[in-house]
Amino acid sequence: MNPVPHSVEVLIIGAGFSGIGAAIQLKAAGIPFLILEKTAEIGGVWRDNHYPDCACDIPSALYSYSFAPNPNWNHLFAKQPEIKRYCENTAQVYGIVDQIRFGQELLTAHWESNQSEWVIKTSTADYRAKFLVVASGPMHVPVTPKVKGLESFTGIQFHSSRWDHSFDLNDKRVAVIGTGASAIQFVPPIQPMVKKLTLFQRTAPWVLPKMDLVIPRGWQELFKRIPFAQRLLRTLLYLQFEALNSSLRHPQLVKRMEAIGLRNIRRGVKDPALRTRLTPDFSLGCKRILQSNTWYRALAKPNVEVVSGIREIQGSCLIADDGSHCDADVLIFATGFEVSVPPIAKRIIGESGTTLHARWDGSPKAYLGTMIDDCPNLFLMLGPNLYSFASAFTMIEAQVQFIVSALSTARQKNLYTIAVDPVRSASYNEAVQASLQRSIWNSGCSSYFLDAHGRNSTNWPWTTFRMRSRLARFRSAEFLTR
Ligand SMILES: Cc1cc2nc3c(=O)[nH]c(=O)nc-3n(C[C@H](O)[C@H](O)[C@H](O)COP(=O)(O)OP(=O)(O)OC[C@H]3O[C@@H](n4cnc5c(N)ncnc54)[C@H](O)[C@@H]3O)c2cc1C
Repeated sequence: MNPVPHSVEVLIIGAGFSGIGAAIQLKAAGIPFLILEKTAEIGGVWRDNHYPDCACDIPSALYSYSFAPNPNWNHLFAKQPEIKRYCENTAQVYGIVDQIRFGQELLTAHWESNQSEWVIKTSTADYRAKFLVVASGPMHVPVTPKVKGLESFTGIQFHSSRWDHSFDLNDKRVAVIGTGASAIQFVPPIQPMVKKLTLFQRTAPWVLPKMDLVIPRGWQELFKRIPFAQRLLRTLLYLQFEALNSSLRHPQLVKRMEAIGLRNIRRGVKDPALRTRLTPDFSLGCKRILQSNTWYRALAKPNVEVVSGIREIQGSCLIADDGSHCDADVLIFATGFEVSVPPIAKRIIGESGTTLHARWDGSPKAYLGTMIDDCPNLFLMLGPNLYSFASAFTMIEAQVQFIVSALSTARQKNLYTIAVDPVRSASYNEAVQASLQRSIWNSGCSSYFLDAHGRNSTNWPWTTFRMRSRLARFRSAEFLTR
């Protein structure tokens, strides 16, 4: 006989920054919850990604919770160990850790209409929850491309988000596939130690200079003694990123930023042929904008070769689309994550008995990026069309405010279910798509912002002021409640 499932009011899936952030505010509002985390540690992407020089690309004064400033950041853009520690410390300080059930992976969650509850199966226990907050991460499942002959590769291979530190890269022939946010961080530190580094590049990214400062002790003291100083810095950074986002709507300003990117290439690379190969052929902003002061210099070193995308592997020999080939002892995939459709959707079965994955059919949609048709009482963190070139904490905190407001309303009004109004949701999504048509993200490059149908299901088309205002409060009249 199965043991009686545990009953909870709110079940949060995932103990990364989204799950921990939601838990802290639910606790403050007096709403009972539990967190299920599949691994044995908190930290999410900052636990999994520990490749050399892994760091954030939004300044840490902004890439942190507004209610938990950290005056001790050592770098303007903190490195992975510091960010992971910050996540752990914050969960500890706010008394969340006891509410986390580690080693419990959500396998399925299905909505039971007659009980108005989610029924959850995990790897070790069953739960029933009135509300589900899905915080399983938009960048949790790594993607490795299907390369012809990959199974024949004779060397060591790993994805950048599962870095194998037991393998010594010294004097090895290393092949890196991908030129995204992770590659631009780990290639410069490994380049001096390897014998040969071959970079397989499908598209050259825009890479702007990074204000990679070590924070002076004096600043840390100032932030400790006068917390307002760090709040002011955070506000200024927030406004700067907002301005950057807005400028992506103006071709003249995009051209100016592209000029900075081109200068960055010229500064690091003398060889005209390599400069050409590293020059992007799409408008800046169409894909994620990257920042580094060391990427181009590393690629200009004599032990590095930049070739086109990978076509085939034959044993230790890797062949590029341009016909060039190299032998490699190590193959590192810097090929990112399954972003456009959250993999957790395969495990969520809504009111109709269909998985969310099947209903979305490769093109995710949600109301305000948070609530989904057919999934009452479910909130998806960092859901469809919420991404902006801003700190993820801006989105996380806006969504958490909405969730706490919704759950507090449900308690006050004795609501059993909160469901999306499909008509309202459809017209909201039409407005999102209409606005995105004119955006830089839809300007023709291929990126993970576009889903399998070529629809942009990732970006928020407006300012984050508007996002925060739309999510500031749960308005019952917009939903179907019972
Ligand atoms: C290397 C890297 C650098 C980044 N840098 C930045 C940056 O500078 N600025 C920025 O804004 N964003 C950045 N991001 C994006 C990042 O995804 C977000 O900033 C944020 O950390 C996401 O937090 P999360 O809690 O939503 O997801 P995650 O951190 O992915 O946490 C999700 C958690 O859910 C758990 N989980 C998943 N599935 C299940 C399941 N079925 N059952 C139970 N538990 C489950 C996972 O184990 C994980 O602990 C970066 C991402 C990466 C990978």
